[in-house]
Amino acid sequence: MAPTDGLPPLRAVIAEHGLSARKALGQNFLLDLNLTAKIARQAGDLSACDVLEVGPGPGGLTRGLLAEGARRVLAVEKDARCLPVLEEIRTAYPGRLEIVHGDALAVDPMDHLAPPLRIVSNLPYNVGTELLTRWLEPPAWPPAWTSLTLMFQREVAERIVAAPGSKAYGRLAVLSQWRADARIVMDLPPEAFTPPPKVRSSVVHVVAREAPKFPAEAKTLFRVTKAAFGQRRKMLRASLKGVAPDIEDRLVAAGIAPTDRAERLSLEAFCALAREVARP
Ligand code: SAM
Repeated sequence: MAPTDGLPPLRAVIAEHGLSARKALGQNFLLDLNLTAKIARQAGDLSACDVLEVGPGPGGLTRGLLAEGARRVLAVEKDARCLPVLEEIRTAYPGRLEIVHGDALAVDPMDHLAPPLRIVSNLPYNVGTELLTRWLEPPAWPPAWTSLTLMFQREVAERIVAAPGSKAYGRLAVLSQWRADARIVMDLPPEAFTPPPKVRSSVVHVVAREAPKFPAEAKTLFRVTKAAFGQRRKMLRASLKGVAPDIEDRLVAAGIAPTDRAERLSLEAFCALAREVARP
């Protein structure tokens, strides 16, 4: 089907601009505009929102977001080769696309955008979890964003939505589920991308809650989960030794057996432990 935005099909764009995918930049492009529009729709109504897109590449998802009515899109791209293509999209959608050439890890979107903000991206795998962790870790809550709609390798998506006791359960699950609700909304086979990656991918939709599910101090919860899952096979009394000298007493006070292991602890139990650890 021909694109409805008057811009050339993505395969033609790639060929014309010589955009051969670079592995070091995590480049696996989505060239089907029906698919990118479908991903954009997973983010909900975009008409009253500004959107941050990390890594627009040749702009397939960017075009999806704009066609689906995003108020404004900030696209942060590291690869200078993509800038002329993105410039053409900017011209097709006057006043609605801002392009920043740079590293998303070093750009503060709030210098460019206004709330409410949604983040929608087909993330480069090499910085995906680092960005997600940063978005989930601000000390104050609710954060600047209302939702994240992000493409990950399936294995990372499973870690985000994992339940206690499962193999995928870890710090990412606790961080994602404490102050937000996360679910997998789409699965994509390798063939959906050019070039196809080795693994399946999934889109995760994360909605920021107004308040955390259980009370805890963010700083302490993050410290406790880092130590506990840093040595996930060890008993908590050993893995958390460095967190507090009297950690066994604090574990017991939180209703947790010191011989238990991090992977079996519920979110509620981690929050109870963080409260005990924060106690003077
Ligand atoms: N959004 C496009 C799509 O869906 O076809 C491209 C997605 S591709 C998986 C990831 C994109 O992120 C690439 O365009 C890559 O150049 C860009 N990228 C990689 N590291 C980046 C970083 N640190 N900051 C901004 N963009 C980055």
